[in-house]
Amino acid sequence: MKDSITGLFDRQQFLRILNSEVNEAGTHQIALALLLVDIRQFGRINIKHGYAAGDSVLQVVAKVLEQVHRKGDQIARIGDDQFALILPGVLNSGHAELAAHKIHRLLDVPVQLDHDTIHCTANIGIALYPDHARGAEVLLAAADEALRRARLSDQPFCVAQGVDDDEYSEHWDIEMALEDAIQKSELRVYFQPKISLLTGKPVGAEALVRWESAFRGLVGPDEFIPVAESTGFIRPLTEWMLNSALRLSSEWEHPWGEQEVSVNVPTQILERADFVDTVMSARELWNSEGSRLCIEILEQSFIENIEAVFAKLKRLRDEGVRVSIDDFGTGYSSLSYFRDIPADELKIDRSFVSGLIQERDNANIVELIVDLAHRFDLSVVAEGVEDAKTLSALKKMQCDVAQGYFIARPMPADEYHGWLANYRGINASGAISAPDTEKSAG
Ligand code: C2E
Ligand code: MG
Ligand code: MG
Repeated sequence: MKDSITGLFDRQQFLRILNSEVNEAGTHQIALALLLVDIRQFGRINIKHGYAAGDSVLQVVAKVLEQVHRKGDQIARIGDDQFALILPGVLNSGHAELAAHKIHRLLDVPVQLDHDTIHCTANIGIALYPDHARGAEVLLAAADEALRRARLSDQPFCVAQGVDDDEYSEHWDIEMALEDAIQKSELRVYFQPKISLLTGKPVGAEALVRWESAFRGLVGPDEFIPVAESTGFIRPLTEWMLNSALRLSSEWEHPWGEQEVSVNVPTQILERADFVDTVMSARELWNSEGSRLCIEILEQSFIENIEAVFAKLKRLRDEGVRVSIDDFGTGYSSLSYFRDIPADELKIDRSFVSGLIQERDNANIVELIVDLAHRFDLSVVAEGVEDAKTLSALKKMQCDVAQGYFIARPMPADEYHGWLANYRGINASGAISAPDTEKSAG
């Protein structure tokens, strides 16, 4: 399939072509170069000049690549701001470096748009078959690794070094299978309840993605979210989660008052110019009176681009969406941003919560975070609550909400329906219990 903005091959098509080109090169015993071209600061171009300008930049880059293109070369757009060039039959890495120089030079001029001039530059990663890899998957990983080095060292391009074949073919397998996980209906939303420590009632649930792969069985997010983030698949995945979580939560029947459904939103998605619109249209589609949307973001999402991100969060909050800062305490916190943070909730990372009873230091940190949050009108969720002692300690520290295996593990949507309907409070040894009378009064 073709990419609609540039008319180039898209990622899926590129993966197929790369596979067959590498096989061809093997059969004819010729070398092949793969160049990955990444536009620097593309997210900022979108934010600063608008989406249409971003599209024009992509078209300009596509044209530049076509200029460098020789007969038999293949060009594709393989990510939001990433292009790939396959050069079969190169004689040595010098040829590929020449192409990289040319691309860099051609791109290093101001792009003239209707009303704007944009200066765009690129970093390039180069890998060669068979020098750096003997298979398509490892070749792509090697070029990716070179690109990462070019980006970090701010060089026009870098050439690959060796990579660990096993690790990358695993990454590749996941990437290939993940591509059609949505079409094959292999993704699932699990819900994990959150309860109020004040009333004992459920206040909502976090939506957590699971992948029931036909080949791999149940795969946890820690395994495939990083792959999704590196391939651009994170965008369809996040949109799917957002829509599914809203749809499923609109069906929740319970006597507990308004519930909240939380969806994790990674930095890359938050940075997109169309992020707020995506959330708003999903909400319109699954409009529900009984539940409210909360987005969980990470601190590092707003460190780099605080103004732009805060502006988006403010827009969302104006529309009634809640904002939660996930894994709080593990990032690079700066207290200065608390003055005007557009958020409603802090989630204390479970690394502090799980050691709360054993280690006084962790208890101190948790108490400090609760106090800090309350001073700025934020509510506090403790995640990773695994026993009654921790639950009652958190209650004493005036933490507002708890989530963790002690209350319930993440579960499929239909099971969560049952859990919500049958919930009678957490009763074990001195812990929370929700009064039945209130429950039946609804
Ligand atoms: P997170 O957002 O901090 O989610 C909480 C994680 O803690 C979940 O792991 C949950 O199962 C786990 N957990 C909850 N209570 C306990 C407990 O008492 N003990 C222990 N040991 N663990 C507990 P999970 O579902 O494996 O997700 C891991 C991470 O993957 C999430 O951390 C989140 O960063 C990411 N993730 C999950 N679903 C999504 C998604 O839909 N989109 C994105 N972008 N990331 C997701
Ligand atoms: Mg979360
Ligand atoms: Mg978390």
